Amino acid sequence: MRGIRELAQEHILGMTAYAPGKQPQGEGWIKLNTNEAPYQPSPEVIPAIEEEIRRLPLYPNPTSQPLRQAIAKHHGLSPANVIIGNGSDDILNLLARVFGGPGHSVGQSFPSYSLYPVLTLLSGGNLLSIPFAKDFSLPVRALAETRADLLFLTCPNAPVGVRFPADQLQQLAEQFDGLLVIDEAYADFARDNAVSLMGQFPRLVITRTFSKAYALAGLRVGYALANPEVIELLDRVRDSYNVNRLSQAGALAALRDTEYYRKAVSGVVDSREQLRSELQSLDWQIYPSEANFLFAAPVDRHANPSPELAQALFQHLESRRILVRYFPKHPLTASHLRISIGSPSQMDRLIEEIRTWQKTA
Ligand SMILES: *Cc1c(COP(=O)(O)O)cnc(C)c1O
Repeated sequence: MRGIRELAQEHILGMTAYAPGKQPQGEGWIKLNTNEAPYQPSPEVIPAIEEEIRRLPLYPNPTSQPLRQAIAKHHGLSPANVIIGNGSDDILNLLARVFGGPGHSVGQSFPSYSLYPVLTLLSGGNLLSIPFAKDFSLPVRALAETRADLLFLTCPNAPVGVRFPADQLQQLAEQFDGLLVIDEAYADFARDNAVSLMGQFPRLVITRTFSKAYALAGLRVGYALANPEVIELLDRVRDSYNVNRLSQAGALAALRDTEYYRKAVSGVVDSREQLRSELQSLDWQIYPSEANFLFAAPVDRHANPSPELAQALFQHLESRRILVRYFPKHPLTASHLRISIGSPSQMDRLIEEIRTWQKTA
């Protein structure tokens, strides 16, 4: 008899799953580790979902068509330019399945969203990683020279938060001859985005999510904007009912309440800049961020950051039931913590804990 592991594919046996940030059970945690919104979704969302509950015996709209139409209108595009996913992770997976795979190469800049390597491995494609320099400037030439079939770029970057200037994205789109995916999960918090480049570059794909600015991480809705030819290919491999009825209704309601979200996002941006100035007053080293988090390095009394210090603070905060994210494995990230922007009272608690800790560091 053959063992179960002998029956599985080789590349699956050799891989490790994507590790999401800790989702603690139980109350009392301040969660600043997975960039969720510190506010509730628009008050329009819950009634829309409640209304939809009555139709649970029926399958949802297979293509999420009303949501495609609303998103197209929101961005000044056509519904043929839009596909909806069960979170944008679903869309990234579709992209890897269509444009990655055996004999295909998938590029990324590194460090970046650690789901890209996992999806590449799953597809059986070859991963090409271009390292960032310490200043996290965009390595346009090196990325273009990968000649990858598919390239994932997060902008604003995760985990650092920097946004690459529009002229550099434009250069990359001009020089790179594969499919360029700009993952704009955090673009709602940024001063600019790449949507205006869409018309110019048929090989440009932009992915967005309702998980961050729209405060709907639990609903799992994301989307891609792309050339109709790309959308048509993605639709071929998409699960036929990939977005459930409640999620379609909730996202549609959220999208209608632009005024609510404009205020909520601007509150997060204010808190982010306030946290920055607090941490700067402690001499921390902080990257500029246009996302809903800061990537920041604590320093010792000689103003030096170190992995030991970052790890010590990470553990101290966790012992105080404050979760932030720590990426110890890469020299560019090991001295920093990624701190999601929470509510003003959560930020006050965080600063208080950091100040107390810093006195003993
Ligand atoms: C949060 C995040 C996503 C996606 O999330 P979904 O919840 O699957 O929509 C995608 N890319 C990056 C870089 C993210 O941080």
